Amino acid sequence: MRTSQFFLATLKEVPADAEIVSHQLMLRAGLIRQVAAGVYNWLPLGHRVLSKVSQVVREEMNRAGAQEVLLPAVQPAELWQQSGRWDDYGPELLRFADRHERDFCFGPTHEEVITTLARAEIRSYRQLPVNLYQIQTKFRDEIRPRFGVMRSREFIMKDAYSFDRDSEGMSQSYQTMYDAYVRIFERLGLQAQAVEADSGTIGGNFSHEFHVLAESGEDAIAFCSTCNYAANVEKVDLTPASPSRPDATETMSEIATPNVHTIADLCNCLNIASSQTLKTLIVQGSEDTPIALVLRGDHSLNKVKAEMLAEVANPLRMASAKEVEEATGVAPGSVGPVGLNIPVIVDHGAAGVADFVCGANREGFHLKSVNWGRDLAEPRTHDLRQAVEGDPCPTDPSQPIQVRRGIEVGHVFQLGTKYSEALDGNFLDAEGRSQPFHMGCYGIGITRIVAAAIEQSHDDNGIIWPAPLAPFDVCIVPIGLKKSQQVADAVEALYADLTDAGFSVLLDDRNERPGVMFSEMDLIGIPHRIVIGERGLSKGIVEYRDRASGESADYPLDAFVTTLKTISSLAPNTT
Ligand code: ATP
Ligand code: MG
Repeated sequence: MRTSQFFLATLKEVPADAEIVSHQLMLRAGLIRQVAAGVYNWLPLGHRVLSKVSQVVREEMNRAGAQEVLLPAVQPAELWQQSGRWDDYGPELLRFADRHERDFCFGPTHEEVITTLARAEIRSYRQLPVNLYQIQTKFRDEIRPRFGVMRSREFIMKDAYSFDRDSEGMSQSYQTMYDAYVRIFERLGLQAQAVEADSGTIGGNFSHEFHVLAESGEDAIAFCSTCNYAANVEKVDLTPASPSRPDATETMSEIATPNVHTIADLCNCLNIASSQTLKTLIVQGSEDTPIALVLRGDHSLNKVKAEMLAEVANPLRMASAKEVEEATGVAPGSVGPVGLNIPVIVDHGAAGVADFVCGANREGFHLKSVNWGRDLAEPRTHDLRQAVEGDPCPTDPSQPIQVRRGIEVGHVFQLGTKYSEALDGNFLDAEGRSQPFHMGCYGIGITRIVAAAIEQSHDDNGIIWPAPLAPFDVCIVPIGLKKSQQVADAVEALYADLTDAGFSVLLDDRNERPGVMFSEMDLIGIPHRIVIGERGLSKGIVEYRDRASGESADYPLDAFVTTLKTISSLAPNTT
């Protein structure tokens, strides 16, 4: 490809609204352009990268025995009504009606469609196991699309679905996919880490996420410093092995706290640590009655854990100030668990505090030296809080966890029979009995991977593609192309030879100033750069530069194709 014919769309300025480096570089290098919030065009340079990602994913899915299909993006509401998700999925599901007023949605995921397909086509245990996958556009009406294609509304996902006779078969299919994911991320040159994860609205009970570690990641990942425990912090179990609490030392009293509405105000006013205070959050219950969740003042609520409680509405919804007043008689900042007339669920951390300070359910007052089992009933406890750095590792509680940021690039779930039961996805077993499929589902964010790769690999000059993702393997930058026939001839010959050898080559034939061409090739991140000029040619050499290390060296022109084969096969991430 020649730059004079290629749709290069590089930008000089850093776009003002792009917050993270991958978003800035994807715009500046001309990989994507925004069409609407969370909706993007992929330009030729970006599309080349996207195709490389898809191709590696496709090869590894095929190798693992999965078969490619293409399911419709637009799905009828009936399927979602049958699974129960038409009501449960919430506003992320883009719903619309056709000209006959029939309801449809744009698929955010495809469990319903694939289970319906399997129901119709798979009759006998002899046809199992089966794993079907597709690479396709999804739409999720994300509340806060941001960071470019990292969290967009329209995005491309690889989604695979496995069908097995029983749970052992499902575990095997799961392991096969897990192993395929490890290979995929390795081949793509991404440092991805598998972590234990929550199953979210997809359901099921066993899942792992694959994360690319990066400061800009939206997820927090907990690692143990000594064992190999790794989990999304949402998932870290903080149930103490042996709950304990110090003895009460003081008598409960009410204290005036005028204008105190937050934990920070309270700590300032009384000169105490926030770990000595309890906060009471009122959330909507599953029966439409409010529920009080009590946490230590320095802890924060883990939404996923709260949603797992049968009494709490899923998705979680905090009560409005008006609803708090109706439920408790006071404004949100003054609520406390003593004398509260609604169900109260207390985090283990809060249940372990003696002589605590909390709201008095009276405007302008707090209670001091409050003790469970004395001033109010022994609490009903549950694990409700978000894990933080230093919390005990669930596998080895003597060790503290560390917390790092991660970008979720893949997610594997064991679904069990959740969808097959809801959608009558059954087959006949060897004894002729009807049995539900045991399913797994496996997603990879194809578009998000491009952004994650850039977050992981860039410098001040631009993108540094891992070789397997690079839109071109090598670029040729001629010096004096239009002035020197010798340069023009050498460039054309090398371009043809490299192309014949199987390299994808970008030849910068625009006759720009060398500095302009160099900085553009750096920006778009081509792994190998060759500079050809008259001075080098007079000695029979070209100048080679490695984008990642910045190191350059002169090589003889006549053997350069062989040289590049050697260099590129030595480069990390080349498969
Ligand atoms: P997240 O927690 O980031 O919202 P999710 O858990 O809802 O993602 P899954 O349903 O597991 O996502 O989807 C499979 C994969 O699709 C994810 O691992 C991620 O890589 C990708 N993905 C999900 N939502 C988005 C999005 N809004 N934009 C880009 N990629 C996405
Ligand atoms: Mg997920």
